[in-house]
Amino acid sequence: MYIMDGKETSKELKEEIKKRVKDLPTKPKLLVILVGDDPASKIYVASKEKAAKNCGIDEETIVLNADASQREVIDIIEKANKDKSINAILVQLPLPDHINTKAVIDSIDPMKDVDGLTSLNQGKLFLGLNGIVPCTPKGIMHLFEKYNVDLTGKNAIVIGRSILVGKPISMLLLAKNATVTIAHSKTKNLKELCLGMDVIVSAVGKPKTITADMVKEGAIVVDVGINRVHNTLVGDVDYLSVCDKCARITPVPGGVGPMTIACLLENVVECYNMQMENK
Ligand code: NAP
Repeated sequence: MYIMDGKETSKELKEEIKKRVKDLPTKPKLLVILVGDDPASKIYVASKEKAAKNCGIDEETIVLNADASQREVIDIIEKANKDKSINAILVQLPLPDHINTKAVIDSIDPMKDVDGLTSLNQGKLFLGLNGIVPCTPKGIMHLFEKYNVDLTGKNAIVIGRSILVGKPISMLLLAKNATVTIAHSKTKNLKELCLGMDVIVSAVGKPKTITADMVKEGAIVVDVGINRVHNTLVGDVDYLSVCDKCARITPVPGGVGPMTIACLLENVVECYNMQMENK
């Protein structure tokens, strides 16, 4: 079994981004909007802030109270859309229940949509057109590239169908000529389906979703899940038992997570360049 090392790969990618940022005429700027004080969201935002600054990207975080209205959030986004000094806008999810997430996301200018979650960028991905690709699926594709995983003709299953991970990674695998199955909470016979697969991507958010008896010898396993169990971070995959069977695997932590952050920075630079081209 070989580990697909997201920590190391993300370091290399961040070094590249740092150089690209240095060569730009002005510093790109990322605006992060955080609504409420969810502890996990605060940690994610802090790590995004730190990573951006380390790469020479300006970063500003606006924190709103948990009872902020949808209109207040959209007003901030609309102002940032018009502000030429801001190149990328990220709304930290999840938003409080009283806010319509889709309405908020779709108020972001698609050229500043650093997470690739607006309807336009999601649609472009579906159509195979150039747009901003969501960071986690993009990070997974970087790992496949780095570890020379040829996806052509491979049977791949994606477990999870969110717009953040499941659906976009399915489109990216398809674009690389894999034969893709998408599973979700209503899927029957997940074990039997997985056993026939060369590639398994699990994006569920439940520990031990993938156990050794579901994985065929020599499969490639990507664990997107982040779960806290007794104060320890684990993925969806029962790592110790599965890693004996598979050819390649991403660990948690140190797999997909750091790649997501690196791809966020890469997307900031892409947003910046897109805006320069469309000036
Ligand atoms: P999500 O929106 O909650 O989606 C979870 C998906 O899993 C849904 O499509 C759901 O099916 C499916 N599911 C739930 N139980 C299932 C089961 N027993 N069998 C098969 N499918 C099942 O979550 P998400 O935003 O995609 O995130 C998924 C996980 O990845 C979470 O742990 C999250 O923290 C993690 N994550 C990690 C990173 C990273 O950088 N490493 C980034 C993003 C997310 P239905 O659609 O039928 O409900």
